Amino acid sequence: MKQLLVLLLVLLPRAAHAQDTHAAERLIEFPDIPGYLTLKCDLHLHTVFSDGSVWPNIRVQEALRDGLDAIAITDHLEYQPHQDDIPHPDRNRSYEIAVEAAGDQDLIILNGSEVTRDMPPGHSNAIFIDDANKLLQDDPVAVFREVKRQGGFTFWNHPNWTSQKPDGVASLTDLHRRLIREGLLQGIEVVNNVTYSDEALQIALDHDLTILGTSDIHGLIDWQYNVPYGGHRPITLVFATERSAAGIQEALQAGRTTVWFNNTLIGKEEFLVPLIRASLTVKEAAYRGDTLVLSVWIENTSDVAFIVDNQTDYTFHGASDVLTIAPHQTTRLDVKTLEKKSSLTLVFDVLNAVTAPGTHPEVALEIQVD
Ligand code: ZN
Repeated sequence: MKQLLVLLLVLLPRAAHAQDTHAAERLIEFPDIPGYLTLKCDLHLHTVFSDGSVWPNIRVQEALRDGLDAIAITDHLEYQPHQDDIPHPDRNRSYEIAVEAAGDQDLIILNGSEVTRDMPPGHSNAIFIDDANKLLQDDPVAVFREVKRQGGFTFWNHPNWTSQKPDGVASLTDLHRRLIREGLLQGIEVVNNVTYSDEALQIALDHDLTILGTSDIHGLIDWQYNVPYGGHRPITLVFATERSAAGIQEALQAGRTTVWFNNTLIGKEEFLVPLIRASLTVKEAAYRGDTLVLSVWIENTSDVAFIVDNQTDYTFHGASDVLTIAPHQTTRLDVKTLEKKSSLTLVFDVLNAVTAPGTHPEVALEIQVD
């Protein structure tokens, strides 16, 4: 019994320490892909200047703690529940306060607004705008035209929102089709807050809209996404040629994004597959002693715990056909090759990556035996 107690005392501080380490590791991390920087962006945030619960400087501090590259402050234009306590005739004010709060810290802040209408068109975000006040117009189409005149980018927010779509199924209305046709609606949220929409993803693919995922945070990021226990906010990974507002804007217009939501990546195959490839590196491959079992060490430099499904005839010595490649670690996979090989290719379906509804990309790992 005494021995057990001693063991417990030794173990307890270690457990507490492990949790501290986890909290310190909240930075969201992804590798760049060939030709592009991978920028971590949350393009839908609220403050007390609409129906959020925090001053804009808190949004800046949360983003810095998460290691984001950019945020957009997107308070509701028309919905102003705190107006009696915080009167503000200038709809650019929350953005300006966020810019002041960021100072010379390493965070890009974008001016935005949430155009807040009944369905259709529902809610939409306008970002990269010069003056939010000019968006206060009755006709929603005129608002979208003004965003375009200012050189902004517009996306449809939570098209699956049950307050406006009780079945939770995103579907285009005639007004949305018109906005897309006229180049006035360029993106769509496939992920908003804690929801995901296969139907929104299909709309994005069918109409070549940019795929976005956002927190739409009103309260605190830490509480909403359980950050102290390893959670993270949904973000859009933007593949840009430069780390700047202009770089992000160009990439969004070109549709170069992937969404990071819970433990799932969602995006067009042409960007999602390079991201998975950039995340996984075969570090070493060697036969175990005088056996035909090949140990392959795979390093994962992303935040994703990749859940992969073996597509080859090889079987594994320490795992079934479905296995997890843990984040920020090197995982050893023992492959039964049946004969000595100098090279081989492992092929996996990545089950927690989504390129279309119900569709998971295939990724090949080329292995040279040491
Ligand atoms: Zn919102």
